[in-house]
Amino acid sequence: MLWIAVASGKGGTGKTTVAVNLALAIEEDVQFLDCDVEGANAHIFLRPQINSVRPVGVLSPRIDIDRCNGCGKCADACRFSALVKVKNRIKVIPNLCHGCGGCQLVCPTGALVLESRRVGAVSEGFAGEMAFASGELDVGQALSVPIIRELKALAGGRDHTIIDCPPGTSCPVVEAVQGCDRCLMVTEPTPFGLHDLKIMTKVLDRMGIPAAIIINRDRGPYRPLEEFCERSGIPVLLRIPFDRRIAELYSRGEVLVDNYPGFRESMVQLFEEVRA
Ligand code: SF4
Ligand code: SF4
Repeated sequence: MLWIAVASGKGGTGKTTVAVNLALAIEEDVQFLDCDVEGANAHIFLRPQINSVRPVGVLSPRIDIDRCNGCGKCADACRFSALVKVKNRIKVIPNLCHGCGGCQLVCPTGALVLESRRVGAVSEGFAGEMAFASGELDVGQALSVPIIRELKALAGGRDHTIIDCPPGTSCPVVEAVQGCDRCLMVTEPTPFGLHDLKIMTKVLDRMGIPAAIIINRDRGPYRPLEEFCERSGIPVLLRIPFDRRIAELYSRGEVLVDNYPGFRESMVQLFEEVRA
């Protein structure tokens, strides 16, 4: 069983393209998790049949004002500033609450009740033989991590799991990558791509997750990126050419393994190198 995360420090590098086409090229039992819950779009390429959609909630406090004595201990205990004391009244800021329950533990009067608050949903289904699950953060919500956690809890029983991670390098990415056997970092040969690749490399290094690099929109060596790859010792497993036909296929929601010559073979080879 192999868990492969496909990530990118920077958005728009082609992470989903790699994740989707890699999943399609593996001729084994595969599960695809779209953990890019603020902008999930793998379904556009994979066109899954969705069989179930379930809400995801986090615990959030409600104050029983008849029992609250205004002591403020809950606000002092909250590390996330989700509770504010205003003139002996406690105000809850739901979007800052991480549902840890610490405030309830310190409340001396039992005035705090934790209730589930919806932050998004997960969808499950199949894209052909491939098991598919995708998360979606509700508009106006800020907590991606519980949805990603829920998605990963769904996985299992399949030979391989491919995770399309959120872009960036913050908590949602850490949650998505956590526990994976390998992380493919998709980058592009630009100063911005290199900058965010360096940050992502540090994150994976701290997490102890083996990394590999995929260079997208490659149009010849970009020296700073080549030097970084050499210096870091992180292998470059694939270079995807800068080609207008790829952009056109992407814009039509079509997959490269079926429409771009040689791409399926490249993905198969990539998978073999990842699991070697
Ligand atoms: S549950 Fe945790 S994060 Fe939420 S308000 Fe209470 S202490 Fe703060
Ligand atoms: S700890 Fe309990 S009693 Fe004290 S202010 Fe908070 S809710 Fe009210």
